[in-house]
Amino acid sequence: GDMVARPDLATFGPIPWEEGTARVLTDLYFMGEPLEVSPRRVLQKIVDEYRKLNLEPIVASELEYYLCRREAGKWVRYVDQAGMVYTSNRMTDPQDVTGLLRKTLTEMGMPVLASNHEFFPSQYEINLLHLPALEAADKAAMFKQALKETAYKLDLVPTFMAKPFNDQGGSGFHLHMSLKDLATGKNAFYDPAESNGLSKLMRHFIAGQLAHAGSTFSLMAPTVNSYKRYKLFSFAPYYIVWGLDNRSTYVRVPNERGEGTRVENRAADAAANPYLVIAGALAAGLDGIKRNLDPGEPFMGDAYQLTDPSNCKVVPLTLGEALDILEKDEYLGNMLSKSFVKAYAALKRLEYQRFLDHVTDWEFNEYVFNL
Ligand code: GLU
Ligand code: MG
Repeated sequence: GDMVARPDLATFGPIPWEEGTARVLTDLYFMGEPLEVSPRRVLQKIVDEYRKLNLEPIVASELEYYLCRREAGKWVRYVDQAGMVYTSNRMTDPQDVTGLLRKTLTEMGMPVLASNHEFFPSQYEINLLHLPALEAADKAAMFKQALKETAYKLDLVPTFMAKPFNDQGGSGFHLHMSLKDLATGKNAFYDPAESNGLSKLMRHFIAGQLAHAGSTFSLMAPTVNSYKRYKLFSFAPYYIVWGLDNRSTYVRVPNERGEGTRVENRAADAAANPYLVIAGALAAGLDGIKRNLDPGEPFMGDAYQLTDPSNCKVVPLTLGEALDILEKDEYLGNMLSKSFVKAYAALKRLEYQRFLDHVTDWEFNEYVFNL
């Protein structure tokens, strides 16, 4: 054996799509020690850091995806009905994938807050209930598997690719985060005495998101395709700014207050590993808290139409650039573990190089007869 996989019995439960079969997630050990490169381990360590401060990170995932079907030997979109955003009906989902999926997820003990058709034809979104960070990551990972199995049974294929089609927008993995004060049991991001009801702690957390934004991108946007999603006017972030209920910014603070006060990081795409997305965002927030960073005033207006973008950071535009920034971030390297960053960067650099070396159809069509 290469390593030891120890079941975490809290994750034990039935697999509704395989009769008489159960599932359990495991933690990996090598020579008696936890495996530092395991994404679940990376996240556990960051949650422990918060607990030392008497805080429990609470997280919810919004995952977007497309559904495809096979037609004349090609994968095409499941339905091609424009303008159906936020609906849920048989016109946009004739085989009721969403209904079956919700039933499966409920049987697996994974509460779904909302599900709907997204903006682009055949694009959908599921919002999972907020939970302590590790449980939220486990459930986001299991959700991806449950969707695949549900769709395969109906001869459909879901894709979490960041930008599967040239003529349609990408699929995001928006992350909602708050911190529970373990002494009071209350949401520590809410303070009615502060401006907009946002506590000082929350402002520091937001500042941490902004400070480490570049370094977390290779975790949030893990493929070469991911970087095709960051376009102006796409509802994916382009400038690293924060705003109040603003979907054009990197960090959005949704309108809810009280226990619902939270930070939404809009950077990740659906292809990302939930453990690493959550670990990266929480580690960034923790540095903001530890160093009392200030995020400045929220950005007002449409961030895609910044009149003076000269002093605003832009998202990294390639996987190579994102990896360079990750490898230079000493703080994040220590938080995620040096050995994790080394292994992750090596793997992803190889993937990036394979992409750079590959002659694409676009290049061939563009140049073969014209030069
Ligand atoms: N699909 C958009 C993205 O790639 C997000 C749309 C929304 O605001 O839900 O991030
Ligand atoms: Mg959405």
